[in-house]
Amino acid sequence: MIPYGKQDINQADISSVIDVLQSDFLTQGPQVPLFEKKLVDYCGVDYGVAVNSATSALHIACLSLGLEKGDWLWTSPNSFVASANCALYCGAKIDFVDIDIQTYNLSAIELEKKLIQAKQEDKLPKVVITVHFAGQSCNMRKIHALSQEYGFNIIEDASHAIGGQYLEKPIGGCQYSDITVFSFHPVKIITTAEGGLATTNSKELAEKMRLFRSHGISRDKSLMTRDPDGAWYYQQVGLGFNYRMTEMQAALGISQMHRLDEFVSKRHILQERYDLLLSSLPIIGPYQDRDSYSALHLYPIQIDLNKVRKNREQIFNFLVENDVGVNVHYIPIHTQPYYLQFGFSKGDFPNSESYYSRSISIPLFHNMEVEQQDKVVDILRKALR
Ligand SMILES: *Cc1c(COP(=O)(O)O)cnc(C)c1O
Repeated sequence: MIPYGKQDINQADISSVIDVLQSDFLTQGPQVPLFEKKLVDYCGVDYGVAVNSATSALHIACLSLGLEKGDWLWTSPNSFVASANCALYCGAKIDFVDIDIQTYNLSAIELEKKLIQAKQEDKLPKVVITVHFAGQSCNMRKIHALSQEYGFNIIEDASHAIGGQYLEKPIGGCQYSDITVFSFHPVKIITTAEGGLATTNSKELAEKMRLFRSHGISRDKSLMTRDPDGAWYYQQVGLGFNYRMTEMQAALGISQMHRLDEFVSKRHILQERYDLLLSSLPIIGPYQDRDSYSALHLYPIQIDLNKVRKNREQIFNFLVENDVGVNVHYIPIHTQPYYLQFGFSKGDFPNSESYYSRSISIPLFHNMEVEQQDKVVDILRKALR
């Protein structure tokens, strides 16, 4: 089976993890701060907080922005459920903004329309999470301008987008947002097995996220409400969690960072090859926005169902039966049965639903062989016949 996404682990990655296993620290040692430094330097941002998943990073990002009961969080329906669940963890209310039909990202035009209405109803969001779908940035300049006008905070869910750029600057620099979140799950661009990281240019937000990451405890005297009992003293200054990343994960992440640019450029070579090989098929390939250099986490295609005699499910099954490990990104979050309790129904976000009904993500990973890619194209051609 050719998977839709896959990690690439080399001998240097393996050695770096073994070195940590033989060192004094398996957690809370030097590797996590080194990994954070590596990301911070790469992204051109001031602070980085590494955690055990992007889901945890989204949670503490929301908490550090003060998202709480009664607040609204808006995000894209075309995302993994974690982009919305973080609102519910905080007791906040969730709503969605429909996608742009070209980029499949949260539409800045739809966002503006919804903000105008929400202002009249006094239901403006506290936080908007922009998801950089498939590794391509949202229209952050416009969304940032709207945040200034309507007073909301922005979290970029860049789980797909490490190594990508927006307006020639690395994703994660937070030029147009408060916080950016990355995922290092093995199907993403670089991996730490499980793992995530939040970047920010705000010292205050970084400090809050560090506290939330580790039980809300601190050894920083300036944060304590009374003098320490002694050198051993720490104080719980808030309620936090254990969202820490291990040293083995951080070491793997540091090692993977050395190849990040190579990974992304290999994905671009494969993407261009797909564009060419698929150009005569009844599909719409992923659009590349000129403001963005995508990290190309995914290669989603939309099938022109008017031109083929099979439905999407038949095409999907044909591909899987022929060892092409396709997937679908994403089932619109508001159509999840769990989300129906919040009053959503089918038809609420028609662009995301229509895109979902026709899309399939075909395999794309940086160590994909040309022969594997040719096989995917061949089977897809047969599937669409
Ligand atoms: C993978 C993913 C997440 C969750 O990442 P984890 O590290 O697995 O918690 C969140 N948002 C998006 C868009 C993702 O693709």
